[in-house]
Amino acid sequence: MLALALYHYSARGYSLLSKFLILPSKSSLCMWVQGVNIQPGLSDHMCSILNCRFSSLPKIHKLAVLCIDEMSIKRNLFYCTRTDDIKGFEQYGPDDKRRTAATGVLVFFLRGLTANWKQPLSYHFISGSCDAKIVKKLLFEILDKVQELGIQIVAVISDQGSNFLKLHSLLSITNDKPYILHNDCKIFFLFDPPHLLKSLRNNFLKYSVIWDENKTSWKHIENFYNIDSRQQYRLARKLTMTHIHPQRLSRMKVKFAAQIFSASVAAGIAVHCQHKSLPAEALATAELCSRMNSLFDAMNSSHLKTPNQWQRAISEESGHIEFLHLNIQWLTSLKIFDSVKNKFVTNNVKCIQGWIKTINCVIQLFPYLREKFDLKFLMTRRLNQDCLENFFGVIRTKGGCSDNPTAVQFVNHFKRACCTSLLLQVTTGNTAPDDDQMLINLKSSLSLSKNLHKQPTAMHKVSNLSNVNVSDFTIRSMPEQNAFVYVCGYLLKKLLAVHSCETCSVLKQNELDFGSGDYISLKNYHDSALSVPSINFTMYVSRCENLFHAFFKENRHLPGIGDKILKILQKVDKPVHCQQFPQTYLLRLFIRVRIHYILRFENRSNCQQKNFKKKVAKLQSK
Ligand SMILES: [Zn+2]
Repeated sequence: MLALALYHYSARGYSLLSKFLILPSKSSLCMWVQGVNIQPGLSDHMCSILNCRFSSLPKIHKLAVLCIDEMSIKRNLFYCTRTDDIKGFEQYGPDDKRRTAATGVLVFFLRGLTANWKQPLSYHFISGSCDAKIVKKLLFEILDKVQELGIQIVAVISDQGSNFLKLHSLLSITNDKPYILHNDCKIFFLFDPPHLLKSLRNNFLKYSVIWDENKTSWKHIENFYNIDSRQQYRLARKLTMTHIHPQRLSRMKVKFAAQIFSASVAAGIAVHCQHKSLPAEALATAELCSRMNSLFDAMNSSHLKTPNQWQRAISEESGHIEFLHLNIQWLTSLKIFDSVKNKFVTNNVKCIQGWIKTINCVIQLFPYLREKFDLKFLMTRRLNQDCLENFFGVIRTKGGCSDNPTAVQFVNHFKRACCTSLLLQVTTGNTAPDDDQMLINLKSSLSLSKNLHKQPTAMHKVSNLSNVNVSDFTIRSMPEQNAFVYVCGYLLKKLLAVHSCETCSVLKQNELDFGSGDYISLKNYHDSALSVPSINFTMYVSRCENLFHAFFKENRHLPGIGDKILKILQKVDKPVHCQQFPQTYLLRLFIRVRIHYILRFENRSNCQQKNFKKKVAKLQSK
C-alpha cells in the first residue's frame, strides 16, 4: 500500500526509485489491486486504498462530483465454491444480503471537478428500482466516508428516474435551495444535462412546444430533412433517418438529440423559410433548436478559450449567469401541447422542470465555489455523468449489444475499472477533459482476458473439491425417480473412488432389485459404468435431500451456505457401520451438485420466461 501511495506521488520518481529499491512493478501493483475483494458497498479496506490514491492530490483537485445511476443486469444466481456462497442476490452492503435475486445494480461513481480523474466507488445489487429511502441511506454513508478521505463532494448528479426525483423531495431539494448542508458544506443536486436533452427530444417527437406566439413541431424538422437530404450540397450534413425516427438504441445516444438541437439545423430551417420552401411558422422550430443548442453548450462547457462564447468555462465575466437566468425565464414560459388529444400536457413533461432545476443549481453553485474554494472558473461538462454512462456502455458492449451482464460478470468489470483508475495518474483540468483514458485502458484489458468474463468456471479450479466435474452427468431428460437413483449412483461412484472396503461394498449392488419401475436408464448405468446404489444408500441420500431442501429454500442467500448445510446433514445416520466412511467428502459433493443444479435450472427458467415475454411483446406490437 505504501508502494501505491508512492506511485501516486510521482510515477517518474517511482520508476527511478525502483532502480535502487526493491519495489513492486506496475503490473504487480495492478495484480494486487485486482486481488482486493470488492464487495457491495464501500468497505473500509477500499477506503484505505483510495486514501493512498487521493492523499497526494493538492486540495483544489480534491473537489469532486458524485454520479449515481442504475443499470439492469441479467437475473442469474451463481454458486462460488471457493467462497461457499451464492452470488447474484439483492445486496446493499457486505452484511445486508436479501433473499431475492438481483435484477439491477446501483453504482456510485466519483469524478474530479477541477482535475481529470474518476473513480468507481461502490456498487449495490438491487431488485427492480432502488427505493429512494435506501438510496438516501447509502448516499449519506458514502458522503461521510468520502469526506474522511479528504475529498470534498460539491454536487450529486443523477437522471430523472422516479426514485431519484423522490430522493430530491426526501432531501427537500427545491429551486430556491437546490443543496443540502453536510458538515458545513453545501452539496448541490442536479440532473444530468445529456439525459435532459434526450428527454426533451423524446417529448418533442410527440408534442409541440409552445411559447408566446411560437408554435413548434417535429414535422418541420422532418420536412426540412426531406428537402435537405435531396440536395447535392446539404445544409445539415449530419442528419440521417436515425435522427428523424430514432429507435430504441439510438434514442439512448445523446449525439442524435444534440445534432437535432443544433445551430446548423436552426440555420438550415431559417434559410428554407426565407426562400419559402418551408412555411414561415417553421421559424419557431428553428428558434427552439437554436436556443437549446446554446443552452446545452453552456451546460456542457469544457474550454477556457474557444470562439463559441457559451462553450467557454463559466467565470465571473463570461456572462453565463445572466444567460442562464434568461433561459430559466424562457423555460418557465414553455407549454407542451398534445395535438392528438388536443390538450396541454405541460405538467406531465418532467424534463422542463428538470432543466429549470439544473440550471438554477449551476447559477447558485458557481458563486459558492468561487467564495469557498477560490475557484476562478467552472467547466460545466464536469457536471454530467458521462463517465458513468461510458462505464456502463463498455460493460454492455462486452456482453453483446443486447445482453446485460450477470452479477458475477458485473463485479469482474467493476473490479477491473477500479484497478485501472486506481493506477491512473491525475492530470490537471486544462487538457481536454473527455479523454477517457480509464475506459480505453479498460477496453484493452477486457479484450485481453475475455474468458474471465464468461461464466467464471475458472473458480472451480481453486476449490479443494476440484476433482469433481459437475457437468459430467446429464439427468435432465429422465423421469424424476430414475434421475434420483442416477444421482445416487454418481455419488456412490465418486465415493468408492476415494474409499473402498469390505463393509462399504454393500452400498453397491450388481442388480437393480428394488422398485418394479421400468428403469429406462438401466442401460445407461452399464454404459457409463456407474455404480448401482443399494436401497440403504438411496434412502440415505433421500433423507439428506429432504433436509437440504428445507434449509436451502429459506437460507440460500447466507454466506457459507455449503458449510451450514453440511453441519445439518452430518447428523443423518450413516448408511454403513464403517469408521472410514468418507461422510464429509460425500456430503460436500452432494451439496455442490445440488446447489449447481438448482441454480442452473432456475436461471434457465428465468431466461425462458424472459424470452417468452419478449416474444409476446413482439407479437403484440405487430
Ligand atoms: Zn468403509
